[in-house]
Amino acid sequence: MKNINDICTRGKKVIIRVDFNVPLDKNFNVTDNSRLIAALPTINKVAKEGGKAILISHLGRPKNGFDDKLSLQHIVNSLSILLKNKVSFCRDCIGDTTSKDVDNMKNGDILVLENLRFYKEETQGDLVFAKKLSDLADIYVNDAFGTAHRSHASTAIIANFFPKNKYFGLLLYKELENLKRALENPKKPFTAIIGGAKVSGKIDVIQSLFNKVDNLIIGGGMAYTFAKAVGGSIGKSLVEDDKLDLARKLIAESKEKGVNLILPIDSVNANRFNNDAKIIKSNISNINQEYIGMDIGTKSIEKFSEIILKSKTIVWNGPMGVFEMQNFQAGTKLVGEAICRATKNGAFSLVGGGDSVSAVNQFKFSKEITYLSTGGGAMLEFLEGKKLPGVEAILD
Ligand code: AMP
Repeated sequence: MKNINDICTRGKKVIIRVDFNVPLDKNFNVTDNSRLIAALPTINKVAKEGGKAILISHLGRPKNGFDDKLSLQHIVNSLSILLKNKVSFCRDCIGDTTSKDVDNMKNGDILVLENLRFYKEETQGDLVFAKKLSDLADIYVNDAFGTAHRSHASTAIIANFFPKNKYFGLLLYKELENLKRALENPKKPFTAIIGGAKVSGKIDVIQSLFNKVDNLIIGGGMAYTFAKAVGGSIGKSLVEDDKLDLARKLIAESKEKGVNLILPIDSVNANRFNNDAKIIKSNISNINQEYIGMDIGTKSIEKFSEIILKSKTIVWNGPMGVFEMQNFQAGTKLVGEAICRATKNGAFSLVGGGDSVSAVNQFKFSKEITYLSTGGGAMLEFLEGKKLPGVEAILD
């Protein structure tokens, strides 16, 4: 796989699709700069060797064209501080102003263009819009793993205009190397831990992981649908009643495929969806009618940890409970801790998905995990065995 390290970009205009979709507070300060940090190696490589780095990204989901709240101008200062370099900003991403700003760039300059999604053509994968973007540069680099599963103008379609000059950025390259390490020839036992709110978003990944893993641990809100499917009383816990049959099917399928499907044994329940609610702990199949299952209980944590500690390859996506509330974070925190210990003992661990990554950061585990992926949806689609348009566009 060719990446930007294979070439020298000196004197060349390099359009780099980055993922600067960062959270902003009400004063438009960047509250989590991990995506900016993740993009630094590629930007530095180009700028330091005298290439002209033209950075393109989306930010949020603008509905009707320009929206000052979602301007990429808000990230320029943070990026400049991180790069320890001057960063300029262009108020548009195509058109005359943009061409002029790009033409004025000197070797080593860094220019951020305005939010691509101010043009609806971006998400529509519009060919004409992609061509206009491509006209700005000599080389196209995709370094946005978070959007690699989208066939948007800037993530996939634009690559058509650079048949010989398209490359993976260093972040996207590293993401793919690590995902491949987990999926192609993983050291066994291979354990996947899937959590989060709902079964519906993760059916495909669970099914395709059945073909790869030895153990599949299920936690989080989705575990209650499984508990109900096998006859448990789950009170007012999150449940997808239309997925009960599917949950039973998945349990049967795991048996057919010889996969050890591990569900929580017990649950920490609250009488309201609130950190200060009254708490009762119980078996997951026997939750009080008025209570909501908020986290996995101690027996589940012990069982999950025991399996994790014996694993040599670990993939984690989705929290074990409502970890945003302090009283319901133990499951996520202790499962994370077990993954860190397994990693210290030599296991390869990969964590992805917005919420799992924020949990890992919140509990300060990031240095103890082998690889933290910047992509949620993209990582899930890769694990499902789907081809990612942003990756295929560079490969073909
Ligand atoms: P997802 O985006 O599907 O990975 O879901 C992440 C969200 O699931 C987080 O915001 C968690 O608070 C939430 N979650 C985890 N466990 C539960 C639960 N038992 N009940 C309701 N929500 C949960």
